[in-house]
This record gives sequence, structure tokens and C-alpha cells, in this order.
Amino acid sequence: MNEKNCHLTDPRLVALLRRAGWRVTPQRLAILQALAMGRHLASCQAIWEQAQRLRRDLGLVTVYRTLAGLHAAGLVEQVEMNGTAHFGLADRHHDHVICQRCGAVEAMDACLLGPLEGVRLAGSDFLVTGHRLDLFGLCRSCQDAR
Ligand SMILES: [Zn+2]
Ligand SMILES: [Zn+2]
Repeated sequence: MNEKNCHLTDPRLVALLRRAGWRVTPQRLAILQALAMGRHLASCQAIWEQAQRLRRDLGLVTVYRTLAGLHAAGLVEQVEMNGTAHFGLADRHHDHVICQRCGAVEAMDACLLGPLEGVRLAGSDFLVTGHRLDLFGLCRSCQDAR
């Protein structure tokens, strides 16, 4: 982790909290900072371990409650894998790829189903206005391990 990633006043994360009407606290920023690192969604436990490097006084229960609140406020997305919730920043729409061997959940940059939005489906005449997509398979390192 470089110096810049350690910085607790990332303006993007402060703006995210403010938009949801949340008071900006060092604990909340540490949790969001942990969520913002890397492309993978992480379990509550993993986010806590990461966030603790920024705020030593952060408890697992606080992380759990904060994640639930941020999810309810639409700031955090939640994907289930093997019965474990994985969390990521919901700063914009993401589709996900989920590795069935190691359980890694990754947010994709590209949106595969975006072109379907606004389209009326043939047969049912259903108008598509949004979507959620989780693709299952094997990540690069699990393919190599086969
Ligand atoms: Zn894998
Ligand atoms: Zn999409």
C-alpha cells in the first residue's frame, strides 16, 4: 500500500458519505478506504482487517453495522458467495465475475448487458430498465492451477 492509499481524506469517499447524509468520521472513512482498494469485493472480516491498519480502534461489530448501513443507503454493493457476503463500493454500476474455486468476487469495468436497457424483449414485450449480473467461472490463477 503506498502513501497515497493511506491518506484518510480521499475527497471521493468524503463526497460519498456527504451525499448519503452521513457524518464523516475517521472510522467510516477507514472502512470506505478498505472497500475502495483493489478490484475485489471483500468479506466483512477482510474489510475489518484492512480498515484496522488505518484505524486501530475499529471493532468488527462497527464494521459490520457500518457496512449494513452503507448498503441500505446504496453506497455499498453486496454479493453473496458460498453464504458469505462480499462488499464493494457502489460508486457506480458493476457487473461481477465470481470464481467458483477460490470464491474471489471481482467487479468488472465493462458492462455486458448495458445495451439491453431501454429495449423491449421480443415475445414478452417486457421493457428492460436495469440489470444485475454475476458471472460464475474460474479466475486466472485458478485456471492455471488446474
Ligand atoms: Zn479463483
Ligand atoms: Zn452491467
